[in-house]
Amino acid sequence: MGMGLNSVKAFFANLALDVPILETEANTATVALAAAAHGVEPGRIAKTLAFQLADGRQVLLVARGDARIDNSKFKTALGKGKMLATDVVAEITGHPVGGVCPFGLAHPLPIYLDVSLKAYGEVLPAAGSVNSAVRISVDLLAQVTQGLWVDVCQAASPNPVAPLAQRAAAIEAALQDHGLPASAGIAQGVHNAEAVWLPERGAQVVAKAWTDAAYRARLLANGKAAVAELGIELPAHHRHLVVLENTASLHNVICCTLCSCTAYTVIGLPPDWYKDLAYRARIVRESRTVLREMGLDLPSDMELRVWDTTADTRYMVLPHRPAHTQEWSPAELARIVTKDAMIGVARL
Ligand code: FE
Repeated sequence: MGMGLNSVKAFFANLALDVPILETEANTATVALAAAAHGVEPGRIAKTLAFQLADGRQVLLVARGDARIDNSKFKTALGKGKMLATDVVAEITGHPVGGVCPFGLAHPLPIYLDVSLKAYGEVLPAAGSVNSAVRISVDLLAQVTQGLWVDVCQAASPNPVAPLAQRAAAIEAALQDHGLPASAGIAQGVHNAEAVWLPERGAQVVAKAWTDAAYRARLLANGKAAVAELGIELPAHHRHLVVLENTASLHNVICCTLCSCTAYTVIGLPPDWYKDLAYRARIVRESRTVLREMGLDLPSDMELRVWDTTADTRYMVLPHRPAHTQEWSPAELARIVTKDAMIGVARL
């Protein structure tokens, strides 16, 4: 913990304000990293910039993370200014580059807040280190910094994105126009999603592997061939199904850091959280913390392996069979196997 973070903690303690200071394992020194680590949109990461003004003052400007300075608006509001060099910023604020914020400053500085922040109720400025942030309401931010509101950033681009249903209808119409009728494919896709690609299929695979040692061996050797024995097919581009066996001392968890890839014909479609940037980024960087947040507190001596899916290599976790199920039939066993357990965010 650097002096920056300490002074930010002291700043809020002195004000007797219980403002949460979030410390992460992940580096949050840039807006993009911070947005990923905290699972919020980049705009919500309040960035603190430092300027030398023509009137001789050094000042801080806090703006939403995705805002850009509008030079002409800046000049109107504050006069000519240029950004300070990073070593000067570190010296006058007492905070390291990547952790600069308007709290607990080494030297008192005038603080300006850009009106772009008002798009949010709560924002996340840094907290004096490269892996911390403060979760604070915009009103309280203005109060504790005694910041003056200014309008010096470019207007946020108008959001032209139509609602999902409208976009889907537009794509369908465009396909029709090009002689590619999509309605049959859409109906098939909905049917598959609702009635075919269900985790009950994977649960059958798991139950059979638990009760049939020869099948388990075939499944671990060649997942794609073994699930085909139970009538479960994978799309052609899922060239491999790699089955990862959990044991009493080893835990596996899967993700797709790029997008959403799963062996969905076996374990079911990926849950929404599996596709979230926060899960995809954090399960790799701070796996045990993420699993704990999801309710799985692994013993520290249990080995943990994280597997990143690719387009042609899909994974499923073969959960560790609970000890109390020794007398159970395959049908009974299949009933306790969940999609979460086959992703590896739960143990049974
Ligand atoms: Fe993917």
